[in-house]
Amino acid sequence: MEKLTKIVATISDKRCEVEFIKSLYDAGMNVVRLNTAHLSLEGAKKIIDNTKAASEKIGILIDTKGPEVRTTKTETDIVLKKDEIIFVKGDPDKFSSKDCIYCSYKNIVTELPINTKILIDDGSIAFQVISKDEDKLTCIVLNDGVVKSRKSFNIPGVPMNLPSLSGKDKDFIELAIKEEITFIAHSFVRNKEDVLEIQKILDAYYSDIKIIAKIENQQGIDNIDEILDNVYGVMIARGDLGIEVDAEKIPLIQKEISKKCIARRKPVIVATQMLHSMIENPRPTRAEISDVANAIYDDTDAVMLSGETASGNYPVEAVKMMSKVAKQVEEYKRDNEKFKDLPHNDQIPLFLARTAAIASTELNDVKAIIADSATGSTIRNLAAFRSSKPILAMCYSKSVMRHLSLSYGVYVENIMLRKSTEEFYHTSFAKLFENNIISPEDKVVVIAGNFGAGIGATFVEISQAKYLYKP
Ligand code: PEP
Repeated sequence: MEKLTKIVATISDKRCEVEFIKSLYDAGMNVVRLNTAHLSLEGAKKIIDNTKAASEKIGILIDTKGPEVRTTKTETDIVLKKDEIIFVKGDPDKFSSKDCIYCSYKNIVTELPINTKILIDDGSIAFQVISKDEDKLTCIVLNDGVVKSRKSFNIPGVPMNLPSLSGKDKDFIELAIKEEITFIAHSFVRNKEDVLEIQKILDAYYSDIKIIAKIENQQGIDNIDEILDNVYGVMIARGDLGIEVDAEKIPLIQKEISKKCIARRKPVIVATQMLHSMIENPRPTRAEISDVANAIYDDTDAVMLSGETASGNYPVEAVKMMSKVAKQVEEYKRDNEKFKDLPHNDQIPLFLARTAAIASTELNDVKAIIADSATGSTIRNLAAFRSSKPILAMCYSKSVMRHLSLSYGVYVENIMLRKSTEEFYHTSFAKLFENNIISPEDKVVVIAGNFGAGIGATFVEISQAKYLYKP
């Protein structure tokens, strides 16, 4: 029980051996992310198999492409100079070259007005449309840069008429269902319809995969409330977001979305470029450390690594660094702040969760909150109060256990379904003692109850472990 903030790490099929995944897990990683923009179905299956072999507690998140546009493949890097004139066309099957940059969206020429700015590769190179005819856009290059294969292609402020799911997305969703992975993070969610389209597919297969909405454009920000009504959690995908809206707005958007998610008791992930320089260097910049610290200070459930772990030179070091920053900030919060209060909305399980969170912070030396969870909902309620003490979630199913891999402060154990308070105490405490997670002298808060009736928690009990359970 080392840190409370969760870490999501992106893994590539080129480096996904079981030992490697285990070393990231030992360093503090909780969820493996597969970025389908760069994966084949076979590659994804390999990462999934190896992650399952590494630990049953690691969540697996498949990140779809969503309604995104990319440049097509290139045979060689395309070097462009400021003020050069280039052509842009839409055809996903053509190779891009110096003669013409192709993008994956067929209708690009019809839909882009003259004067529109196009940003390639997270904005590292920009073009402006100066004229257009039937089949091509003529653009001026705004800065020196290089266009490589399959780079992001953003048109800030111009909503495009793209379907929510591409054919490739549907193939990956099918794989996700078949492999019973944990989360689907859908890219460029614009409104609730984008989410419901995936939910419909999941429901048709009775899948309990949870949907994470990636917020990465203005439409997603504008419709955040209806999106939150329909998703399990949110990823603040700052890479594309920083292109789609003015980059200086990102810090405050991040704070606002985090706040909304916590108030709604939905897991929130802050993503992208958190330790970017560690792709090349063994130590991050001070600004990067502060960025991770700030996200944690603002109570995010999880922080995410992308290239740092997918292709960087220091993947394990990057996860260790995030864990160290998390511990430091959490310690500060433990010493300086109380739990995060939220209304109980006259719901008994929520009232009890609030009571447990208060007890765990206000009473001296509470070691942990022990909680029973059939669906994970009591645990997510508890996590939202951001107690500084870990939540030991006793889960009756492995999928609930993995769903909780994204929730702040939650450590999971799998136990068999219990039908009474005595049985629950017996199984849980025996396991926690046996694994040296708590000892008989430790003061603990227990929240549990109902045992199968489906009404959520019904009691909170507080004492030293030895008074609650005698082996
Ligand atoms: C992002 O844009 O920040 C992000 C996480 O998405 P992707 O890595 O798919 O670009």
